[in-house]
Formats: sequence, structure tokens, C-alpha cells
Amino acid sequence: MEGPPPPTRGFMPCSTMTPLILVLSLFLLGVQALHGSQWTYSEGTLDEEHWSSEYPTCGKKKQSPINVQRSKVQYNPNLKPLILVGYEAQNAPFTMINNGHTVQISLYHTMHMIVPDGTRYIAQQMHFHWGDASSEISGSEHTIDGTRYVAEAHLVHYNSKYHSFEEAQNAPDGLAVLAFFLKIQEYSENLYYSSFISHLNSIKYPGQSTVIEGLNIMDMMPHNPQHYYTYTGSLTTPPCTQDISWFLLADAVLISITQARNLESTLQDHSNKTLQNNYRTTQPLHNRVVESNFKILFNQHSEYPVLNGIYNKLKTLRKLEKQKKEKGQEKKEKSSKERKSKVKHN
Ligand SMILES: [Zn+2]
Repeated sequence: MEGPPPPTRGFMPCSTMTPLILVLSLFLLGVQALHGSQWTYSEGTLDEEHWSSEYPTCGKKKQSPINVQRSKVQYNPNLKPLILVGYEAQNAPFTMINNGHTVQISLYHTMHMIVPDGTRYIAQQMHFHWGDASSEISGSEHTIDGTRYVAEAHLVHYNSKYHSFEEAQNAPDGLAVLAFFLKIQEYSENLYYSSFISHLNSIKYPGQSTVIEGLNIMDMMPHNPQHYYTYTGSLTTPPCTQDISWFLLADAVLISITQARNLESTLQDHSNKTLQNNYRTTQPLHNRVVESNFKILFNQHSEYPVLNGIYNKLKTLRKLEKQKKEKGQEKKEKSSKERKSKVKHN
């Protein structure tokens, strides 16, 4: 728990103490609301391996993200293309916030998506997952045949039969996520991302927000939004709510190296470190089946599978290295304590 220590009782008369406690409680609540719970990807006691201790659903069997193994994907010709309404340019400001875990853009409820079974899902927010600029580690959440893309965008929607996102989020048919990958195309800047990326500078610290004019979500998406993979999964961050319909576009959007590096290195997290590698490792598929609405052509190689395998291993290695360091530190502290107590006893 962060924030100031609780007020010391007994030093002040009740009349001043009560409002002060109230103010402090409100402040603590504010800090908590801002920070959420202290989950992280790789730091501290509530890193992704321990999410399930606080958020049991994270340990269940329909989790996201997953590796999409294309040879096992079932082509379903009955799956119609998604119908996206209101995703084009809007003459309205979009609010964009650094929530300590990602950059999140609030979407207008006039935007909605109709999925193959006819359900209408209303857009709530869009956010990104990315890797590490210094080590050039890719940071998409889903992988395709083991390939991790540079970044991944999630457009979170809620079922229109519910009145609000809050009401829908715990219902089994409440949420749907439209996801797509970002890929590097060397030096050619993607102009549809320019404004979004330059605005990151104004939300460097968690809790900061800014307003961005005239965002065209449709243009920020891949050219072909028709082909997708779909499966039932979860939110990829705590509380890892399950039974979410995922629609992962097969086509990726291209951004320049500079744009990718800016996305990966501008924001800071709650511990004043660069907000990076904000992706969860892929989860077991268990008995789930991934379907596609297009025929997969297997002469198309997935890109750099070897390189990405190395990147994934690198993340694990860095974690081990950190744990080793922490253990070393613990040992040091322990032996110095022992030394001190020896001195005392002598
Ligand atoms: Zn996400």
C-alpha cells in the first residue's frame, strides 16, 4: 500500500482529527484508484507468475494471450467479416491516459463492432502492448507460430445488451477485444500514428492524461480488417476476466523504427522506470480451438521465428538474472545481519 502513514492518534482533538482522517482516507483511495493493485509484469512480489495469488482467474484455463499455431487453426467459412461502425475520423477529442501499465485512449460509444453471430459490441477503450527499445525486444502479446510482433493494439468492447462497460465486464458474454499487430517497416513513418506518438510526451508519468484531436481509428488499423483469428480467452491483465471473444486481425499495421522506439521508451511506470515489456507471456490453450475466417497459406513463412525465439528466451533469462541478483542481495543482507548480531554478542 502506498501513500502517507496513517495519522497518529492522540495528538489532536477529535474535531480536527476526523476531517483530517477523512482527507487522508480520500487521498489513500485516490492513490489506490490511480495505481490499481500493485501488479507488474516482472518486478516485485505480484509479477505475472504470481497474479493468480491475488486474482485467481489469472490461473484458470481460458487465458490470453496465446500462441496461434497456424497448422492447428480451424478454417470456418461461416464466419463473416466484422462490421466496424464509426471507426473513421471523428471531429471530436479523444482522451489519452498513462495508467501506469499502458497508454489508453477512451473511445466513443458511437463506435461499435458487429461480430459474426450478430452481437453488437460497443467500443470502450484502446491500448497498446510493446517491448523494450534498448534490447529491441518485440512486445506483442499474441504470437503467430511463435513469432512475436513489435507491438499489439487492443480495442476493448462491451456487449450492447448491457448498459455500461462496468455492468458488462463480469458477464460471460460481456466483452470482446479486437486486436491487431504493429510491425516495423524501416524508415517510412506511418502518418496515422504521428499525432498519437507525439502526444506520448505529455503523458510521461502515470495518471497524466492529454487530449488528442481528430483521431482516425480506422486508419490506425491494418489495411485488411476482414481476415481474423478468433477464440475465447481473457483480459491479459488482472483480473484476467474470462469468456472474452477475441478477434485477432491477420494483417498487421506498419510503423517506422523511430515510431516503435518512441512508443517503447517515452512513458514511465509507477516505479519511475521506463514503461516497457508490458506484455504477458502466452498461456496454455488447453482444450480451446482457434478458428479463422480465411484459408491460411502455408507457403507464407512467419518472419524471424528464430530471432523471436531468442527474444522470448532473453525475457526469461533476464528474469532469472534478476531473481539471482535479488537472492544475492538477500544473502548479503542476511550475512551482514549475522555479522552485526555476532558483534553484539561479542
Ligand atoms: Zn491489452
